[in-house]
Amino acid sequence: MESPDRSAVNKRLYREVNARIRDVADTDVAGEPLEFLCECGNPACTETLELPLAVFDEVTAEPGRIILAAQHRASLEESEILAQNDGYLIVPDGI
Ligand SMILES: [Zn+2]
Repeated sequence: MESPDRSAVNKRLYREVNARIRDVADTDVAGEPLEFLCECGNPACTETLELPLAVFDEVTAEPGRIILAAQHRASLEESEILAQNDGYLIVPDGI
């Protein structure tokens, strides 16, 4: 069984990387998709997802929400998904 601490550390790390990706993006591209890392926290997951900058800002404005690659769709319950699009899923952290 995977340690929850390890997963939390990974999630924080991925969020920091994503925040950096967001920071270097030009504000002019707010509506354009950027490539972010999946924040599922699994060290074996190397998925990326395309998310519009404006959506990233919206998701990260409140704590407790993470972005996942669409490939994780199959392992989630419909009720767990806050928002989804072709390339990404937005879910509460800790599911
Ligand atoms: Zn993942």
